[in-house]
Amino acid sequence: MLYRIIDADDLPSLIRAFMESYELVAPVAQGQGYIFDVIENPDDVVLDYPTTMASPKKYFLPPEETLFKFDVAENDVSEYELDVKPRVLFGVHPCDLNAIERLDAVFLDSRYSDPYYRARREATLIVGVGCMPTSSCFCHRVDADEAPRGYDLFLQDLGDRYWVSISSVAAAEILEESTHLREATDDDRAAFAAANHRRAAAFDESIPNVQDIAMLMDTYHRDPFWAELGSRCLNCTACAAVCPTCMCFDIKDILSPDAKTGERVRTWDCCTSPEFAQVAGGHNFRADERGRVRHRMYHKLNGFKMKHGTMLCVGCGRCVRACKTNINPIEVFKFFAEKTRSSAVTTKEANDAE
Ligand code: SF4
Ligand code: SF4
Repeated sequence: MLYRIIDADDLPSLIRAFMESYELVAPVAQGQGYIFDVIENPDDVVLDYPTTMASPKKYFLPPEETLFKFDVAENDVSEYELDVKPRVLFGVHPCDLNAIERLDAVFLDSRYSDPYYRARREATLIVGVGCMPTSSCFCHRVDADEAPRGYDLFLQDLGDRYWVSISSVAAAEILEESTHLREATDDDRAAFAAANHRRAAAFDESIPNVQDIAMLMDTYHRDPFWAELGSRCLNCTACAAVCPTCMCFDIKDILSPDAKTGERVRTWDCCTSPEFAQVAGGHNFRADERGRVRHRMYHKLNGFKMKHGTMLCVGCGRCVRACKTNINPIEVFKFFAEKTRSSAVTTKEANDAE
């Protein structure tokens, strides 16, 4: 890993240099919030943004895509033609960099690699950017507040300059050609450490830090908490739509009206949707909201970790804002923090009584 410094004034030049060879996607203001969008004018890019409303996952896994077309009359399947643009995803926060790593773990799996995801991923350079936590961020509770890898460049704002972490040759060449790079001085290193310190101090420490949450979830699998949480679910699926790591999809064959040709289409799906676990014959393995909400939280905080070693939730806080009935991982943390505290009290009382 290389570290260099660029002047803040050099940033537009870097953006323009990327735009010469790539489609550039970056955060822009929209309404009262921010979204990732294709950039036409470098001045539109906003780097000191709070978390965007939706995540950048759609640039790797579109909400809807045709996988291939078929001809029923000819009993034939056409080759799939994927239109993949070389793209730069610019200004990605550490939580979203961690989310892309989680998606990679699934879609770039060496046994069942997804060719559609892989093609887009390999055509994309990623430029990360440091951030300040908002009131709904809890990446510090799920080990996703730092992104030690998963980017080509990473920019840390130091006021009149950026600290740039460089991890790919392709991005380094564009950086070198378009900016006045210089080596970091002791002052730069001190400013970088101070920026990291300010950020670490800005996280909400009142959000519980629950150790062994996976084990606790197994212990309290049947607790009435899950029924209460589920009773609030509206089945709206907003949580999955905004989540950077929700990756479930449905596949349908759609026939043309003459029933001669058609296409196989993949669309986003969500485990809080009532039909998600319904199978042929009509049986539904998670027919009620309790089971669906519990499953979602289990997959985020327990199941994925068992297989991949990290939680699937990266603490971006988008579902905290999107869910109108306050169903989110922070609620789960609070429940388990209380359970842990009350069982510690009970154990102490039992020990004291002996
Ligand atoms: S958990 Fe919240 S956002 Fe998700 S489906 Fe239920 S009500 Fe909607
Ligand atoms: S579950 Fe919520 S907080 Fe966690 S990654 Fe998804 S949207 Fe972000």
